Amino acid sequence: MQQGKGKRSSKYSVENGVFQLNKKAIIIGAGIGGLCTAIELQRTGWKVSIWDKANSLTGLGAGIVLAPNAMFVLEKLGVANDIRNHGSKVDKAVILSWDGKEIMCLPTDIQAQKYGTHSYLIHRGALQTILRNKLKKETSLHIQKELLQFSESEHKVTAFSKDGSTEEADVLIGADGLHSKVREILFGPQPLRYSGYTALRGICTLKDNVLMDEHGGGFEAWGKGKRFGFTKIGKGKYFWFTAINTPENKEIPKLERKTKALHLLNGWCDPINAIIQATHSDDILHHDIFDRTPLTYWSSNRVTLLGDAAHPMLPNLGQGGAQAMEDAFVLTQSLNSTTDITKALKEYEEKRIPRTTKVVKQSRRMGRLVQIENPLILQARNTMLRRLPTKLFIDRMHWVVGYKIK
Ligand SMILES: Cc1cc2nc3c(=O)[nH]c(=O)nc-3n(C[C@H](O)[C@H](O)[C@H](O)COP(=O)(O)OP(=O)(O)OC[C@H]3O[C@@H](n4cnc5c(N)ncnc54)[C@H](O)[C@@H]3O)c2cc1C
Repeated sequence: MQQGKGKRSSKYSVENGVFQLNKKAIIIGAGIGGLCTAIELQRTGWKVSIWDKANSLTGLGAGIVLAPNAMFVLEKLGVANDIRNHGSKVDKAVILSWDGKEIMCLPTDIQAQKYGTHSYLIHRGALQTILRNKLKKETSLHIQKELLQFSESEHKVTAFSKDGSTEEADVLIGADGLHSKVREILFGPQPLRYSGYTALRGICTLKDNVLMDEHGGGFEAWGKGKRFGFTKIGKGKYFWFTAINTPENKEIPKLERKTKALHLLNGWCDPINAIIQATHSDDILHHDIFDRTPLTYWSSNRVTLLGDAAHPMLPNLGQGGAQAMEDAFVLTQSLNSTTDITKALKEYEEKRIPRTTKVVKQSRRMGRLVQIENPLILQARNTMLRRLPTKLFIDRMHWVVGYKIK
C-alpha cells in the first residue's frame, strides 16, 4: 500500500507492524468468487471476514476450465503459476460427432499465442486450495457459518448468522452462489430458469495410452440432444461431463448414475465407454442446469452481489468462474477508488452488468446450438461449423476469452 509522508490519516491502523485500511468487508461464500475477492481486498489493505455455510471446503469433485480471461485475473492475484503447476493446459480442443467424426478443431494454440497463455483445466478442489492458501492469517475464514439476514445503517452493515452471532463491516459481498441468500434478501425470491438439460460429471484415473493422441487428451462429442466431453486435469486424472436434454427434477440416484450414463451414451465413439467405466458411481455428480434472468442492478447502499449470486449462467462457454474472478478484481478496484461505499458499488455494477449480461445471454444461445435434437438442423449445424474459418471463430470468441481486466 502506498503511504504518503508525515502524519498518517485515520483511514489506516497498524497491525503487526503493517499499515492497514480501517475498512472491513464481510464476504458471504468461500467459493471461487468469494476467495478471489478476499485475496484482492486483503492485498489492498482491507480486513476481510469470509463466512461459508458448508461443513468443509473441499470443492466439488469436478474439473473447471480457466480461459485466458480467468488466467489474466489469476495472474494479478499471484496464483497463475500454481494453477499451471497443478492443472493441465488445454493443448487441443476437438469437437466430434457422437460417432467420432471431426466437426471442428478449436485453434487453442493460435489463441494461446495471441493471449500469451493457454486455457487450463484444474480440479475444483485444487483451485480452491490454491486460493485458500493465498489468504493471509489476518483474514478470517469461518465455515459452518450461514448468513440468515443482514441490516444496514448509514455507517455499517451487520450480518446475522444462523449460529446466533453477528458481525459488522463497511461492506457485505454476497458471493453465495446460484441460490444466493443475499440476492433473495435484496431483491426477493426469483425463479431459476431451467436450461432444458441435466448434467452428470465425473473424474477418473486412466492410463494415457487409452486415449487417441491426435485428440490431445480430450474432446467433446455432440449427439442428438446429448453431449459428452472429457479432458485431462493433471496427475493422470480425467474430468468428464455429459449434458442430456430432459425435463427438470428427474433425480438420478447416486448408485444408478454410472449405469445411466453408459446407457445414454451406448455406441458413442471410444474411449467414452472406458472413461465412464473407470469412474466410481459414488463420484458422479448430478445437477440440473439453471441460470437466472439478468438483473439490472446488484446493490443496496452497503451490500452487493458477485459471481453466480449476481449472474448465474449456463456452463456452455465455461465462463461462470471466470466472470466471478473478473467481478472480484473490478469490485476491489471500485471499493478502493472512493471512500463512499455506495458510489463504489454503483461504479462496480456499471462496469460489470453489461459484460456479464452479455455472457449470460451468449451462454444460453450456445446451449441451444449444442443441445439440438432435430436431425436436419443438427446436420446443418455440423456442416456450418466444419466450414467456419479459424479466424472467424477466434474473432467471435475474442470478447469473451480475450478480455483483460486493467
Ligand atoms: C456443470 C458446470 C460446469 C461448469 N464449468 C465451468 C468452467 O469450466 N469454467 C468456469 O469458469 N465456470 C464453470 N462453471 C461455473 C462455475 O462453477 C461457477 O460460476 C462458479 O463456481 C461460481 O462461483 P461462486 O463463488 O460465485 O459461487 P459458488 O462456487 O457456488 O460458491 C458459493 C459459496 O457460498 C456458500 N453459501 C451459500 N449460501 C450461503 C449462506 N447463506 N451463508 C454462507 N455461505 C453460503 C456455499 O456453501 C458456497 O461455498 C460450471 C458450472 C457448472 C454447473
